[in-house]
Amino acid sequence: MIVAMQEKATEEQIFAVIERMEEAGVDVHRTTGETQTILAGVGQTSNIDLTKFEVLPGVLHVHRISSPYKLAGRAFRPEGTVIEFSNGVKVGGEHVAVMAGPCSIESREQIFTTAQRVRAAGADFLRGGAYKPRSSPYAFQGMGIPGLQLMHEAARTHGLLTVSEVMEISQIEPMLPYIDLFQVGARNMQNFNLLRELGQVRKPVLLKRGIAATIEELLLSAEYIMAGGNYEVILCERGIRTYETATRNTMDISAIPVVKKLSHLPIVGDPSHGTGRRDMVAPMALASVAAGADAILVEVHPDADKAVSDAAQTLYLDQFDELMVQLRVIASAVGRTL
Ligand code: PEP
Ligand code: MN
Repeated sequence: MIVAMQEKATEEQIFAVIERMEEAGVDVHRTTGETQTILAGVGQTSNIDLTKFEVLPGVLHVHRISSPYKLAGRAFRPEGTVIEFSNGVKVGGEHVAVMAGPCSIESREQIFTTAQRVRAAGADFLRGGAYKPRSSPYAFQGMGIPGLQLMHEAARTHGLLTVSEVMEISQIEPMLPYIDLFQVGARNMQNFNLLRELGQVRKPVLLKRGIAATIEELLLSAEYIMAGGNYEVILCERGIRTYETATRNTMDISAIPVVKKLSHLPIVGDPSHGTGRRDMVAPMALASVAAGADAILVEVHPDADKAVSDAAQTLYLDQFDELMVQLRVIASAVGRTL
């Protein structure tokens, strides 16, 4: 259930409503916007008489949400979520953030060169996998913590934030000092134990859509993280598996406006995994921003052809420079900045 408080509601009135909701047996999640406080009650609400709440002082209106995700739903934060990082970069506001870097962290030189160039072009985050979910157990599995140490040093040297994939619960703690944003990969979107554990962490999570997941399933996975109290979730459209074989995945651009309508969470477009082809990355990155994406995640490598993973979809550094110029034009056309 959602209880929207009146603009002039006092703290006392808000606390009184929270108390009554808890007495009714629901978990209360509060969000205080610029003008209004919204109280979301999660739990068994079907037997609750809503009119009892409607008449409490300071209450504007009350309704039951039929959608299965309550915290991730737009009604919880109608004005949208903006996530602010340690250096002031915001994801979800007017700014379109750019996350760029190799699929895998491979060496000091590779990650430092990438950091310097993507920062110079205007990126906000340095990405790089240290734990890689590879289709084959014989393929490169990632450098682990030493790789994250290199990426963190490279990022901080050049004023960037870091984002990297966490594949299992035991990796959360050791990764904490080196990353600003935990990435949950497509293959782990429904690893509910991992999601629950990330709900206990106080660091933002980038949740990628599974290759065969519906948008509702994506939002329910976000709900797992938020139910633990971690509201800083960023969703990511990275392509889904369809019957089409011309691209590695089918980049569902329409998922971006759909998510914007259904949820208050920011959404990122990942045209690299979305297409699997270097020549398709720029058009789909531009389309993502035009469709309302709050950020773009792109794979870039100083020697893209020789990248140990995802080489075919990885941009050369010069291509990334060019893409940033084009992205600025599109961003300004839709009232955003890059
Ligand atoms: C990645 O970002 O390199 C990655 C493995 O992504 P996904 O989980 O979307 O395949
Ligand atoms: Mn990759």
